[in-house]
Amino acid sequence: MIKLVVALSVLGAHGDVAEPIIPNSIVVATARGQLEVPVSTEMGHPALSVPRLGQLLPVTAQVSGDWATVAFAQQPFRFLLGASNFVYQGRVVPLVGGAYVRRDTVYVPLQWLTEYVPRMFSEGYRYDPYAGRFEESRLAPIASPTITQPRLDYRAPAPGSPAAREGFRMLHKVVIDAGHGGRDPGNPGKFLPRGVNEKHITLALAGLIEDELESRGVSVVMTRTRDVTVNVHNRAPLCKDDCGLFVSIHVNSLKPRTGYQNVSGFETYFLDDARTQEAQRVAQMENDAILYDTDEPIEEDDPLSFILKDLHTNEYLRQSAELADFIQQAGARVHPGRDRGVSQARFVVLGYASRPAVLVETGFATNKKDAEFLTSATGKQRLADAIADGIVQYLKRYEAKVLGGVEP
Ligand SMILES: [Zn+2]
Repeated sequence: MIKLVVALSVLGAHGDVAEPIIPNSIVVATARGQLEVPVSTEMGHPALSVPRLGQLLPVTAQVSGDWATVAFAQQPFRFLLGASNFVYQGRVVPLVGGAYVRRDTVYVPLQWLTEYVPRMFSEGYRYDPYAGRFEESRLAPIASPTITQPRLDYRAPAPGSPAAREGFRMLHKVVIDAGHGGRDPGNPGKFLPRGVNEKHITLALAGLIEDELESRGVSVVMTRTRDVTVNVHNRAPLCKDDCGLFVSIHVNSLKPRTGYQNVSGFETYFLDDARTQEAQRVAQMENDAILYDTDEPIEEDDPLSFILKDLHTNEYLRQSAELADFIQQAGARVHPGRDRGVSQARFVVLGYASRPAVLVETGFATNKKDAEFLTSATGKQRLADAIADGIVQYLKRYEAKVLGGVEP
């Protein structure tokens, strides 16, 4: 069973600093003049009218469907209306409250303007929470915020290195997650040898994937390299900044029922989108922190019983779907069981990812053939190579997209 602890407080980045001050209005001060901007709390969190801000600041908003694109000094920030986050350069950043439209006016969260804009344009803006004053520096040119460099601050592989031989044009880092471990054995599976649990298979597979990726010039960070307990919500966060993707490795099993031993095959999951009823319910919990207590093994029979933090967006899901597709196609080619395709589900381990993230169910320990394949050295090697192949294909496609050029 899973013990859910829902922390009601918003976990801020400021440690012990007292509650943020919510003023009735803020003053925007620039070389062009000063302006008082009322703080609206009609949606339960402090927000500011974009047209009002735009009277002095280089900010505009455009609504298209469910999205508002708010450009600040020509940098586009995308807000899914009603969702407590924004997307900047492909990254999802959580907020206390989101952007919304009222009376044909786009409102942006005060937190975005006062916390994130100064961070992103560090030479250009500062906010004094005590004075309620948002200031534009006279020194820095607005049009060149410090973050205009692409997020992709990439390095090219050295000539002759494994990455260069592989044909990569940039260096990549990925996180491989061996599912379960330590106190959490994962599924014992009817056809796994005595003493072998899911956690052993996932660790072996993850190690082989690591070797294969490293030999092809992709650096790998492992969530575990030994039989240790790793909290489920600490896994995906290892993939951030310069990390390209997150892949969690698992072995499936079914509870005894008629014909269950016949079910076999390889499948890849990515996170469900927010359109289902369950996800909508979860979305209401917005900034609650969901903490899992992993003192007890995690039941995996019903992936849909998991809950995610709803901080994910279409772009993120699209990339995850693409990654899932490459891995699925590569894995299904070598797997003796069925090609079960790509599915979406709310795995909590993926819910903490800020990068494209997938979960691979490498076969059923309750199916004899699958279990033999996953237990054998050659089976594991073939599957690990295939999964690495899928990852490499995704990374090359990603390179083609961000660097331009012909797709492989
Ligand atoms: Zn598992």
